[in-house]
Amino acid sequence: MVQFNVPPYYGTEMDYVREAAEVNHKICGDGPFTRRCHKWMEQRFAAQKVLLTTSGTTALEMAAILSGVGPGDEVILPSFTFSSTATAFQLVGATLVFVDVRPDTMNIDEAKIEAAITERTRVIVVVHYAGISCEMDAILKLAQKHNLMVVEDAAQGVMSTYKGRALGTIGDFGCFSFHETKNYSMGEGGAVLIRDERHNELAEIIREKGTNRSRFYRGQVDKYTWVDRGSSYLPSDMNAAYLFAQLEHADEINESRRATWEFYHKELRTLAEDGFIELPIVPEGCVHNGHLYYLKCRDLDQRTRFIAFMRSRGIGCPFHYIPLHSSPAGLRFGRFHGEDAVTTRDSERLTRLPLYYGMTDEERVEVVNSVKEFFVGEEPFVS
Ligand SMILES: *Cc1c(COP(=O)(O)O)cnc(C)c1O
Repeated sequence: MVQFNVPPYYGTEMDYVREAAEVNHKICGDGPFTRRCHKWMEQRFAAQKVLLTTSGTTALEMAAILSGVGPGDEVILPSFTFSSTATAFQLVGATLVFVDVRPDTMNIDEAKIEAAITERTRVIVVVHYAGISCEMDAILKLAQKHNLMVVEDAAQGVMSTYKGRALGTIGDFGCFSFHETKNYSMGEGGAVLIRDERHNELAEIIREKGTNRSRFYRGQVDKYTWVDRGSSYLPSDMNAAYLFAQLEHADEINESRRATWEFYHKELRTLAEDGFIELPIVPEGCVHNGHLYYLKCRDLDQRTRFIAFMRSRGIGCPFHYIPLHSSPAGLRFGRFHGEDAVTTRDSERLTRLPLYYGMTDEERVEVVNSVKEFFVGEEPFVS
């Protein structure tokens, strides 16, 4: 039996959680462990500013508010993504304009963005699917040409790079997730990364219920008060303590995931070369974090049989995503620009393989053998 996901657990997390409660006596937000997480990520990723949030979703909400978009404005994003990429911008009243993805990476197709830009467009939201970067040079160039902001949904991209730069630090704002299904976790949590320091103060205010409490703590104002829009986006220091234990061992966790990814990629290559499946590609200049591994079946019917077969072997292989543009809320809050050549077709035939920190060789082999066994009875479809 191989579970699809096991939440990352290094082993030192509970010592730090205990320290937060019993030594620091600080369990609300912005305590010592939160500061250590911020500093670790700012240094490691060469990020101007990192702020922990309660989820990847709320990191995206902060990015949406900080982008300054509102009703009447349009935001360009892929349809092949998790709902949060869309809900964050829908909450501030923006209209969502979905663009097709590339079949090789399942990332937004940079060549199809410009045609979707109108005079109302304000932001391009990119999603680094599977921790493999979008074509950021082309996207930044478009953004500059049309005076747009770029938000990176780097929920899956912690520790990945594009031409040497950490994902999340390339656009105006970057968003990480530390959900238990992601590479590093605090249960529920995330972070927003800010490229330009002129956004720092408003970011701190929005995150702290619209108050200038952060400035107050630093002694920059003598009382704190409600000064702007806001919510409560800061996580408990206990959760930050849990995360910090994993950040300290980030390379080790990354290596374990990448080893599984590479094993799958090597072992399944022959099936792909013989035309039975399609596998992900990693473009030039991208270094990924082994966030997830997927393969593409011929069609929905074959995928349904594949998932059932793997389940019969005790192996969890879920699929995602139902395209947002054809979902009930997507129909209400957005529109698809151009032809949906890849999004729906490939979302119906993509399936994920188990991948988590600490997977054993036996588990990896079991998965690969079961995949091979299933395709023995199938016909090739890629010429
Ligand atoms: C996980 C994920 C999110 C949401 O993160 P949460 O921490 O669960 O709120 C957003 N976008 C993408 C692409 C994700 O994979």
